[in-house]
Amino acid sequence: MRIGILGGTFDPVHIGHLIMADEAIAQLSLDQVLFVPAGDPWRKSDDRRITPAEHRLAMLRIALAGNDRFGISDIELRREGPSYTADTLATLASERLDDELVFLLGSDAFADLPHWHEPHRIVDHAMLAVAPRETADMRGLLARVTGIDLDRVLKFEMPRVDVSSTDVRGRVAAGRPVRYLLPPGVAGYIDEHRLYR
Ligand code: ATP
Repeated sequence: MRIGILGGTFDPVHIGHLIMADEAIAQLSLDQVLFVPAGDPWRKSDDRRITPAEHRLAMLRIALAGNDRFGISDIELRREGPSYTADTLATLASERLDDELVFLLGSDAFADLPHWHEPHRIVDHAMLAVAPRETADMRGLLARVTGIDLDRVLKFEMPRVDVSSTDVRGRVAAGRPVRYLLPPGVAGYIDEHRLYR
């Protein structure tokens, strides 16, 4: 099988993530996309307090219910210490010897890749596939990102979806609407558990 891996903080999961995964399945001929919530998203956790994993996971479960091509792996939640994608992909690859892994990223995450832990190891275990986010100059981006073998990088298209988890958190805190930025049921969960107030 050809499996897409979508790592993220998912704090909270929003429609951008789902549109991205759906487009990846269609354009990259994937059998499945596995969403992998980060235990300790160390590139982000210095700047703010990350919502406890149980809530991020619960929101993912609600968001992905009913799509049998979407799955969740809690591999990074079970591992101590910073969530390094290179370690995650090495473990997933060793558990799925017959599968081909494709790691999905938005162009913002791809641009940040040189700052990740051992980025060259990531492409040992998976192809990368990058989707544009905002007004990404993809060609310029590919030229600037060094430290990985660009033969291992694919591109796919998605409608520009100008939604981020940061924006959703800010809207909830300010009492502005989020209902249609989120998969059905997620806004209700946020309300019920008084997240992001
Ligand atoms: P935050 O605003 O908290 O930094 P985020 O919205 O970027 O969060 P993450 O969970 O960190 O969400 O993202 C996981 C992956 O999904 C990253 O590769 C990111 O680039 C991609 N992604 C998230 N939102 C979008 C979007 N609207 N369009 C394209 N890619 C996206």
